[in-house]
Amino acid sequence: MPSSFSDKNKTGWHATILTLFPKMFPGPLGFSLAGKALNSGIWNLKTVDIRNFAQNKSRSIDDYPFGGGTGMVMRPDIVDTALEAVADRPGPRLYPSPRGAIFDQSWAKILAKEPGAVIFCGRYEGLDERVIKARNLKEVSIGDFVLSGGEPAAIIIMDALIRLLPGVLGTTTGLSEESFENGLLEYPLYTQPRNWNGIIVPETLTSGHHAKVKAWKRLKAESITRERRPDLWEQYMKNNDKSSSSR
Ligand code: SAM
Repeated sequence: MPSSFSDKNKTGWHATILTLFPKMFPGPLGFSLAGKALNSGIWNLKTVDIRNFAQNKSRSIDDYPFGGGTGMVMRPDIVDTALEAVADRPGPRLYPSPRGAIFDQSWAKILAKEPGAVIFCGRYEGLDERVIKARNLKEVSIGDFVLSGGEPAAIIIMDALIRLLPGVLGTTTGLSEESFENGLLEYPLYTQPRNWNGIIVPETLTSGHHAKVKAWKRLKAESITRERRPDLWEQYMKNNDKSSSSR
């Protein structure tokens, strides 16, 4: 996708990405649901090349860490100027970082209700601490592992929230039984053929009995959540005030 795409469209949810690699965007977000939503103006994308704010001939934006240590650090003056250049773009200022709070579905929902977000993609060893504080950047982690840059994290965050924007899925009914809605993982899914290699689709699902199908789905969602995610299960039990006897 050519980079000129970024400023074409100014309607919808405003995504602003500061990055050393603008060509990484929209990347996967230019395809399927997110791509269609981008083309139809449900969201718009502005990418800003951090390198444009370099102040020396070598166009460097990083420097050695005080106190020693491996790698380089992104300079606060350059990060600050880059953020100032997008002061008119709406939404919270996010900095993908392994030190951040873990991104989850409830965070995606909160972001989808904002008018947009500004995401600063770190590289090297990350940002000088002073500019994180001065600019009140909210650190957000996509998991307990270390990526080589914030761009894949930004794409994941964006993908999760874009599908929640009104009009992206076409109807809101698709969301109600997904994983993390109601605090549960999704129940097992089946489609045609009914008999595949001798494995038959559970009878309840083909019974046409609406209430029984609903109960089956809830039961399976509960047992999968209990087995795979004890943390979610505990929270679900608390929220639904269920006694441990139903385990
Ligand atoms: N020195 C950092 C540390 O130990 O926490 C890791 C820096 S990492 C090599 C470079 C950049 O990748 C970070 O500044 C951040 O923007 C991004 N990044 C790495 N892991 C991430 C994660 N789990 N979630 C979100 N962003 C991440």
